[in-house]
Amino acid sequence: MEFSVLHPRDRIVAVMERIYAGGMTTTSGGNLSVRDPEGDVWVTPTGIDKGHLAPADIVCLRDGCVVEGQHRPTSEYLFHLAIYERRPDIQAIVHAHPPALAAFGIVQKTPDTRVTPDSYWICGPVGCAPYALTGSEELAGRIADAFGQGFDSVLMENHGVVTAGDDLLHAFHRFEALEYCARTIISASALGPVRALGEDEIPETGLADMASMESASSSCAPGESTVRERLRDVVRRAHAQHLMPSTAGAVSARLEGGMDSFLITPHRQDWTYLEVDDLVRIEDGLCERGKVPGRSVRLHRAIYQTHPDVGAIVHAHAPYVTAYAVVGRTLDARHLSESYVILREAPLLPYGPQFDDEARVATALSSGTRALLLQNDGILTTGPGLIEAFDCLEVAEFTAMALFGAVHVGVPVPITEDDVRVLDERFPR
Ligand SMILES: [Zn+2]
Repeated sequence: MEFSVLHPRDRIVAVMERIYAGGMTTTSGGNLSVRDPEGDVWVTPTGIDKGHLAPADIVCLRDGCVVEGQHRPTSEYLFHLAIYERRPDIQAIVHAHPPALAAFGIVQKTPDTRVTPDSYWICGPVGCAPYALTGSEELAGRIADAFGQGFDSVLMENHGVVTAGDDLLHAFHRFEALEYCARTIISASALGPVRALGEDEIPETGLADMASMESASSSCAPGESTVRERLRDVVRRAHAQHLMPSTAGAVSARLEGGMDSFLITPHRQDWTYLEVDDLVRIEDGLCERGKVPGRSVRLHRAIYQTHPDVGAIVHAHAPYVTAYAVVGRTLDARHLSESYVILREAPLLPYGPQFDDEARVATALSSGTRALLLQNDGILTTGPGLIEAFDCLEVAEFTAMALFGAVHVGVPVPITEDDVRVLDERFPR
C-alpha cells in the first residue's frame, strides 16, 4: 500500500486506528497532525471518539484558523503549530499518553533508547519538555524548544509523549518503538540494573552489507510463493500480537531444497503493510536485486548453513523477554513445564557477535536449544517451520510476562531437577 499518496485525512484516521488498537491511547486522549505541501495543517478534532474517527472528522488549519472541517481542532493544536514553525523538516506529529511512556512522564525521566540498537536507530535520543498546563502557549513553547534542540521524540513531564517525522508513518514508528522501549525498561528495572549500550557499540545504521544478484529475476524456488505468503502472514501476526514493533526485527524462512537459499523480511518496512513481493530472497550470499534485507540477514544465513534442520528464524524485540536480555539475565523456563518443553535453556549470548561473528551465534543453537537471548538485542527463535519459530517467540514472551506477574503474588518456584529430567525423557529433542 502506498501510504504517502493517501489524503492527510485518511493517513490520520489509519494511524489513529493503529494507535487505539495497539492500546496506546484512550478514547479521549492523543492527537495527530500532518502538514501538507501547501503548509496547511490537518489535525484531529477535540472531543471525538478516537476509536471511531472518520476522515470527515479531521480539521484543516491555515494560519491557525479552521478552513475545513465540522469540529473544533484538538485543544493541544498550539504545540503542533509551534513544532512546525520551529522545524521546517517535520511534516507530521503524533501525541498520546501511552501507559509505559506516561510512567516515565510521571517520574520526569526520559527513556534511554540505547537499550537496543533498533530503538536507538528508530527513535533517536529523547528530549524532555518540562511540565506546563495542557493546551497552553507555555507548554507549546517548551515542546517546540525540545524539538528545536534536534530531538524527534520528546517526553512531556506529567503528561505523555510527542514524536515527529518527515511523514506520519515515520512519526508513528518512532512513537510505537518508543512505547515498546519504555515497556522493556520498566520490566527490566524489576530484574536488575538496566544496561544501555555505549554510542560506540551501536553501528551507524542497521543496514546489512550484502551484494545483490546480477539478474533482476531468477526463477522461483519450488513452493516459493507459498513460503512468501506464510512468511508475510507470520510477520503481520507477530506485529498484531505486540511481539514486534512495526519496523524492527527480522523473520526468515528457508526455501525448499536450499542449503543457502531463504526469504527474509526487508529492512525497515512497516509490517502492517508488508506484501509478498517485499520479501527478499537470499541465494548463495547474494540478495534479490533492488531490495534491502533486514539487518540480521548474515546471522540468519549462518544459522541455515550450520543447522540443516532449521527451517525458519525469528529475531524480535518483544518487550518482556527483551527485558531479560537488557539486564543480562536468562529466562528460566523451568517455572512453567510446557514453556520448558518448547524453550529448554534459552542461553544468553553477549552483545556484539551478531554483527561480526555470526558463526559464533549459530553454533550456540542445537537440536536442544531453539532460542537464544541476545544481550541488548532481543531474542532469536528457530524451528523446523515458521509456525514453530513464531510459537517459540510467543511462548518466551508469555513466560517472561508470567514471571513478572509471579513476583507480585508470591515467590516463584521452578520445577525440580527430577521433574526436568522426566520432561527431557518424555519430550526428547
Ligand atoms: Zn495530551
